[in-house]
Amino acid sequence: DLPPIQGRIQLDRVHFEYEPGRPALRGVSLTAEPGQSVAFVGHTGSGKSTIINLICRFYDPTEGKVSIDGYDLRDVTLNSLRKQIGIVLQDTFIFSGSIRDNIRFGKLEATDEEIERAAKAVHAHDFIVKLPNGYDTEVEERGSVLSMGQRQLISFARALLSDPRILILDEATASIDTETELKIQEALKTLLAGRTSFLIAHRLSTIRNADKIIVMDHGVMKEEGNHAGL
Ligand code: ATP
Ligand code: MG
Repeated sequence: DLPPIQGRIQLDRVHFEYEPGRPALRGVSLTAEPGQSVAFVGHTGSGKSTIINLICRFYDPTEGKVSIDGYDLRDVTLNSLRKQIGIVLQDTFIFSGSIRDNIRFGKLEATDEEIERAAKAVHAHDFIVKLPNGYDTEVEERGSVLSMGQRQLISFARALLSDPRILILDEATASIDTETELKIQEALKTLLAGRTSFLIAHRLSTIRNADKIIVMDHGVMKEEGNHAGL
């Protein structure tokens, strides 16, 4: 088992092929220190999601090593790894059930107070209490009760509640109104605080929140810098 981690992520000369002879990553080496946030940018197919796939160990590298706090991911159990990683994906996952249950997902022992505290911290509480049944409002997987931005905030509250050391965000490109956008940016700051995070960023405002920006190009790390430098 992977013991409780600080959250230092390291890729060491990582090479990866989904299909033999067609490299998706070529010689990627990088380190994220505990608490640091790293944003990945680059055109479609450049390898951004692949890096995340390797950190969550959906795949193992073809060559090279991925490690967390010095532990080679090949040597740890999937369960002990994944319970320390929070993932907020592009297509925000909402299931049929109450808002409360959607936030509680993954931390079944959470109390109503803890759920509300997480929702308040990411600015979701205000819109939730305005829904017909507040936290008990039933939502549908693909239903229209929630806007895209609201779904995003619910998934942030869920991630905050589970309090992982490592946070992965594959940001949605869908357009969101300015007011919700501001809330999301504020919420993101709260969510990133004290965690190592990998952000696949599409919004400039998200990129600004990152400590380090990595430009991917055809599976290679092309540039590394910060918002001011790039
Ligand atoms: P996007 O911005 O479109 O999400 P990305 O930077 O996340 O792109 P990846 O998904 O990492 O790109 O893809 C890197 C390369 O690997 C691409 O050439 C892609 O076609 C290929 N690829 C990705 N997933 C698979 C898969 N499951 N099987 C085979 N090839 C894949
Ligand atoms: Mg992707």
